Amino acid sequence: MKKITLFLLALAGQFSFAQNQQMEQPALGCGFDQLPSQNKFVNPHFESKFQERIAATNKNVKKTARERIIPLVFHVFHQGETIGEGTNISNKQIYESIKLLNDRFGNADQDPNSTATNIKFVLATKNAAGVCQEGIVRVNMASNANYLANGTQMYTSQPGVSYETLANASRWDHSQFYNVYVVNKIQGATGYAMMPTGVGHYYDRIVIRYLELNSGIYCHEMGHAMNLYHSFEGSTGTNCPPETNGCGSGLGDCVSDTPPHIKSHVVDNALNALNTCTQDNNSSFKVNAMTYTISDYMKCFTPQQSLRMETAFDELRTNYHREVNPYFNETNAPTANFLIDGAVPGLKYLCANNSVTLTNISTCFLNTFQANSAIEGMKRNGRL
Ligand SMILES: [Zn+2]
Repeated sequence: MKKITLFLLALAGQFSFAQNQQMEQPALGCGFDQLPSQNKFVNPHFESKFQERIAATNKNVKKTARERIIPLVFHVFHQGETIGEGTNISNKQIYESIKLLNDRFGNADQDPNSTATNIKFVLATKNAAGVCQEGIVRVNMASNANYLANGTQMYTSQPGVSYETLANASRWDHSQFYNVYVVNKIQGATGYAMMPTGVGHYYDRIVIRYLELNSGIYCHEMGHAMNLYHSFEGSTGTNCPPETNGCGSGLGDCVSDTPPHIKSHVVDNALNALNTCTQDNNSSFKVNAMTYTISDYMKCFTPQQSLRMETAFDELRTNYHREVNPYFNETNAPTANFLIDGAVPGLKYLCANNSVTLTNISTCFLNTFQANSAIEGMKRNGRL
């Protein structure tokens, strides 16, 4: 484990250096391809070691079944609007984005080529000091002309405010929480994330445009954060990846059950169209979270992608393990207020067909915001 830690520190150092490199203008969409190459697992020695760990994990069914929870903190950099308007998105939109992540990581649509991962996301509800505090921070950027005009930059040659500016204004301890920055715009992209080479470093984050928080691109970026390449890795347009099951930047996605395919298939969303790289109708990649497609299709993970992400959690994102992360200590049970609609004040009982409103008043509760979390005996329409 010591060797792993040292190697990660070395990668983090390379990454800091690469932040200052001049890079070409990316197309709108995921900004991952424009990130410094040092931020990906381009070191074959490291990737081979990671593959060994994946193989070992694959043999240990009990290990793969462990509960993996990532606490999220949202930093909403708005333009001065009231909460719920424009870039100052509502709490409800944030709750729904967490539900979207959990549904898609859980294969809620039961896509036959995909699987439910053992990874869940919750809203952080206790800060690093152990105080119950909702993990949503709002920063008013109305007085920052550069932010209003240009949004945020991915690298220093671009206009817009830097990530350092965002991080200095608001961040929670990266060793305990995963920070999500919701911004008005990103130069040349709508979202990007770091692979877990710099885990615990303050560069480790997702930055996403507010319009994409409740979309497939958010799920896609979280896939990168859990060590996934694009499913078309090695293709730069209409060309096929150079290897059928390549592994590494420019070669392939290191995942054996995603078929090689072209990057620009997004122009053809027909699910039964020929895959020109395999000359068959295996179009499962078209509903994969790690390809470029429309949001509704960008939703699922294959079993090998799931295994790769779970191994990344077990071996790299060790700071989120419950046994070492104090955030998970003394987490409360959920609590709710029950209000009988139309009831006489003081009424202590329910009549048949009365409807009941439940209001979540939980504090320090690990909420995944998923559906099907109805209380035992209560139908989901709120009637007994
Ligand atoms: Zn991407």
